[in-house]
Amino acid sequence: MEITAKDLVQYFYSVVDVIEKEKDYLSELDRHLGDGDHGVTMSIGFQSVKEKLDVDLANETDCGKISTTVGMTFLNAVGSSVGPLYATGFMRGGMVVKGKEVLNDENLTEYWIAFVKGVKERGQANVGEKTMIDTLEPFGKALQEIFTSTNNFKKAFHKALQAAKEGMESTKELLSKKGRSSRLGERSKGAQDPGATSAYFIIKTFEKIL
Ligand code: ADP
Ligand code: MG
Ligand code: MG
Repeated sequence: MEITAKDLVQYFYSVVDVIEKEKDYLSELDRHLGDGDHGVTMSIGFQSVKEKLDVDLANETDCGKISTTVGMTFLNAVGSSVGPLYATGFMRGGMVVKGKEVLNDENLTEYWIAFVKGVKERGQANVGEKTMIDTLEPFGKALQEIFTSTNNFKKAFHKALQAAKEGMESTKELLSKKGRSSRLGERSKGAQDPGATSAYFIIKTFEKIL
């Protein structure tokens, strides 16, 4: 399969819409675990991305430039912990598809693997610590494994989303070890992690352009 720069821009517009739709839900999750701002933060970030898409990226043909610019724009707009995390993901993804107008199965797999690695390196969280890594690491692992055995990105991505969903849901029963909510100790159990949830929305939305 092939994804063009136009499709990628369309993907980011879809993320903008999904974040707006889920804004209150994400903040509600963060009220149980943190300072209740996750939805607002994500919305501020992606509204800024939307402006950038409208103004500078509408006719951009370099997929790398699109993703890198999205990352930088998100970073500049967002003050909280997710700013550098998602920014690094989109910028690292952008680096591996630099100069490409069309992405094939292999490029797409590499893009998402680089995204996950970037977030992980930036935040230094491990699976089981109740963060977006609980969604992203199983997703990246499944994507890599299934793509290696099938050479079919769409199929691998679809199955990896299942692993991501299970990872996201697993955060409900976890004790927070990273970020603001780690101060809650035992009380952090019982609520799904907001970042694990927004990470799932971000990757899930990619299916729309496949
Ligand atoms: P803040 O806690 O600064 O208000 P947000 O509410 O926007 O930031 O984001 C909180 C989310 O960030 C958490 O739910 C968690 O998933 C994620 N997070 C925090 N620290 C890390 C980290 N070191 N690595 C990965 N994700 C993290
Ligand atoms: Mg917060
Ligand atoms: Mg905050």
